[in-house]
Amino acid sequence: MIEAYRLVDKLEREHSLSLSEYKLLIESENEALRTYVSNKAKTVATSIYANFIYVRGLIEVGNYCRNDCLYCGIRKSNTNCDRYILDEEDILNCCKEGYDLGFRTFVLQGGEGIYKKDFVTSIVQKIHVLYPDCAITLSLGEEDKETYKEWFDAGANRYLLRHETASKGHYEKLHPENMSFEHRMQCLRDLKNIGYQVGCGFMVGSPYQTSETLAMDLKFIETFKPDMCGIGPFISQKDTPFRDMKSGTLNQTLFLLSLIRLIQPNILLPATTALGTIDSKGREKGILAGANVVMPNLSPVSVRKKYALYDNKICTGEESAECKNCLSNRMRSIGYEIVTDRGDIKK
Ligand code: SAH
Repeated sequence: MIEAYRLVDKLEREHSLSLSEYKLLIESENEALRTYVSNKAKTVATSIYANFIYVRGLIEVGNYCRNDCLYCGIRKSNTNCDRYILDEEDILNCCKEGYDLGFRTFVLQGGEGIYKKDFVTSIVQKIHVLYPDCAITLSLGEEDKETYKEWFDAGANRYLLRHETASKGHYEKLHPENMSFEHRMQCLRDLKNIGYQVGCGFMVGSPYQTSETLAMDLKFIETFKPDMCGIGPFISQKDTPFRDMKSGTLNQTLFLLSLIRLIQPNILLPATTALGTIDSKGREKGILAGANVVMPNLSPVSVRKKYALYDNKICTGEESAECKNCLSNRMRSIGYEIVTDRGDIKK
């Protein structure tokens, strides 16, 4: 046990541990250790970002998808998924509303292969011209390097592509045969080489995850050095092959958020919607464990229920049109302030 505390101190000092040390830490998680690492992570985060929380306006552009990830509610073979796709006017309306609310980052996220390359290029160009002071983040899955480059040249600044797991064996248990671990990792390297600020990430408690695969995730973050890292609990979705699998836990997610903050002090770390879904105060707890970003939903209320990656997702009802105010109040309740800012990583 004392060994685990020693490892946390070492991580805080050196920002690096061996795979077996990460594994031991993950296996040693308990309330006292969580509090210990969380206090350190919170101090590190506020020493860089003060009590400021960055917001991203999340626009869920559509739920068509060419992939069949076993955990995901918008997987292609889910016939119960009510499909939708936003057009240019819808997206620009979301941006307008978001800009007026103080958002300076727009995230366009959706199923893979949802738009033709040229459509994305053109919408990125338009947003870039209309809102030159905003960052444009894409999260549209795996593409080839030329496509990523074209979107970057059009004005996209950031790309979110969770690696999902850093273990090839584990990856293959979460995805059908036609998806490739190597290709996903190659995409992340391509995005970085092009010049995007890149976000990777994974689900906590996904089926077949072990302390060993989690240790590999932490080692991957340590060596890849992403600008952002999105982690949230796996939550089962009723129309997927993983419908009966156990969901991830609040506590393990909080523990991992804190460890990631110590690995890379300046990383942009969201307290995710999935975390807010498994616990009504999950996002607040995430911030107190070292996260510094929230991503309120800017999608039209009429489509929110349809973007059902997992069951019981929050902020999908009519009453939640105004996610930003709700989150502002939540952040204020724990002594933090949402800021009107692009929210770039502090180097
Ligand atoms: N298609 C895009 C982004 C859409 S999904 C892409 O591949 O990057 C965004 C993230 O939601 C996924 O990367 C995955 O980690 C997460 N997700 C999917 N299904 C989930 C589930 N059942 N529980 C929790 N998170 C899930």
